[in-house]
Formats: sequence, C-alpha cells, structure tokens
Amino acid sequence: MSVVVLGSINLDLIAQIDKIPVAGETRIAQGLLTSPGGKGANQALAARRMGAEVILVGMVGDDAFAMQALRILRQDGVDLSHIGVSRQHTTGLAFITVESGGQNAITVVPGANYELGSEALGQLERILTPQDLLVMQAEIPFEVIERALMIARRIGSQVLWDPAPASAQFPHSLFHVNVITPNQTEASLLLGTPVTDVRSAKAAARQLRTLGAEIAIVKLGAQGLVWATAHGVFYEPGIAVHAVDAVGAGDVFLGALAARLDAKDPWPQAIKIANHAAALSTTQRGAQPSFPWWKDVRQMIK
Ligand code: ADP
Repeated sequence: MSVVVLGSINLDLIAQIDKIPVAGETRIAQGLLTSPGGKGANQALAARRMGAEVILVGMVGDDAFAMQALRILRQDGVDLSHIGVSRQHTTGLAFITVESGGQNAITVVPGANYELGSEALGQLERILTPQDLLVMQAEIPFEVIERALMIARRIGSQVLWDPAPASAQFPHSLFHVNVITPNQTEASLLLGTPVTDVRSAKAAARQLRTLGAEIAIVKLGAQGLVWATAHGVFYEPGIAVHAVDAVGAGDVFLGALAARLDAKDPWPQAIKIANHAAALSTTQRGAQPSFPWWKDVRQMIK
C-alpha cells in the first residue's frame, strides 16, 4: 500500500528587501533564500515523514531548479521515479519578494506543472492499485485531476482532494471524491457563503457532502477543523502550540492524514494525529524543513 501523490513541484525563490519595487523600479535585495515547495511535493513529503511509502507523480523542467526542488524529497525517500522532465518548460517557480514587515509580492510560473497530461496519467494508471490512496490538489490542470479521478475510480483507489488554490470554476465532477479538505477561505469560495467559525464550517462540511464528497473536512487554522461523514459532523479543536509560521500547515495535515489512513488507523485517530502534525509544523519557520516526523508527533500525542 502506498500514498500516491499527483501534483505540483515548485522551487520558491525568496528575496528579502526593504521595499517591494514598483513597476519600472530596480531595488537591491538583502538576501535570497531558496525553498522547495508546490502542494504536491509538500504533501508527498509530509506523508513520507509520517511513515508512508510515497510515490510522487509530477513534472519538472530539464534544469538546475529541479535538483533543488526535489532535494528534500529525495533525501527522505519519496519515490521520484515517475516524475517527468519537460523539454519545453522550466520547473515550476515562485518569485517571492518579502519586505521586513512581512508584506510580500509573489509571481508564480507554473512551468512544467501545467504540462502534466497523458504521460503522467499513463504512469498513474500503471502504478495505482486498489489499496493505494491517491492524493491531489489544484495546482495542475483541472482536466488532469478529472481524468485521474476517473482512473482511481476504475481501479478502486480512495481519493483525497485538497481543492487549493480554490476556484469558483472547478467542474462539479471534482467534488465526487472520498475526502475533500478545503481551509475556511477555500470553502467560502467553493460554496459562495462565508465560513468564519465552527458553526459555519460545520454547515459548509455538510454542504460539501451533498455536492458529492464522502467525507468533508474544513480546516480552521488555530481553531482546528471540522469533519463531516455519513454519521454526523464533528469538531476537532486546534492544538495549543507557539505557532511562528503556518505556511504549509494544510499540506502537512493532508499528508499526515493520508499516511495514517494508509497505516489503517481508524478515522478519528487519523484526524487527531493529522491535527497534531499540522500544529507541530507551525512551531518552526519555513515549509518543507519544518515538516514533522511520525516519531515526534507520536511523542506529542502520548
Ligand atoms: P491551510 O494551511 O490549508 O490554509 P489552515 O490554515 O486551516 O489550512 O491549517 C491547517 C491545519 O493546520 C489546521 O486545521 C490545524 O490542524 C493546523 N494549524 C494551522 N494553524 C495552526 C495554529 N496556529 N495552531 C495550531 N494548529 C494550527
């Protein structure tokens, strides 16, 4: 049994600057950080560190960015043998300029991520088994997600879909998944109704089930999450931690959830562990380097 992630791989290039330049202006940055990212890559790493065998299906460019984007995944043992290399596009990149006060400006170049298509779907069809969990997000073309969903359905694999970044244009077929995991902003956009607290999140989770999801989870940041199943709607309060950086917390949540479901934990236990793993990831700066390991999360729960 494996967790198979079909999704995006990016490299973030982060320049620290006193003031974000306006159009036509050139300014000197204080420094540059590079950080591997992309929701697909993040969720694959999170699931791996939480104990799963993980295969990442995605696409990078034929360039030096790819090495850096895949460095931590390779080091931690995510199976990268099904990643395609584009001859036309660069590895997905995010150019991020951050002011000392925290204001930022971001330019995303999807690059090879948008070239995902028939080849990746062919790989998926070959490797996916009924026991595997397929994990997807929304940083790749919608039609690829739709076709992957059909493949998973035909094979009999469970599908966990993180509808992020959210779009009001998602085809309705995408809601017919085993598990959907928007945060509150994404749930608001998907349903066209504000989701601001536990009460409205419970209503949103119920509504996501009526749209086709078997289990709907709405993530509420420091407040935790709600989850709706055929048996009812439940609230899992947030874990009190000293949070310094919540970037990637949602990716850790889904990666950890997939890993624990793959390990055959019962649902309430898998939710509890994913909630703890996501909270723990907020206590350190940065995305992938801050992702927790199963042994540390297990320690936290004891
Ligand atoms: P996303 O990262 O997708 O925007 P959230 O911000 O809702 O989603 O965070 C996802 C999960 O991470 C939450 O459901 C919760 O489990 C955990 N989390 C996020 N922020 C905090 C925090 N400040 N304290 C504790 N847990 C947090």
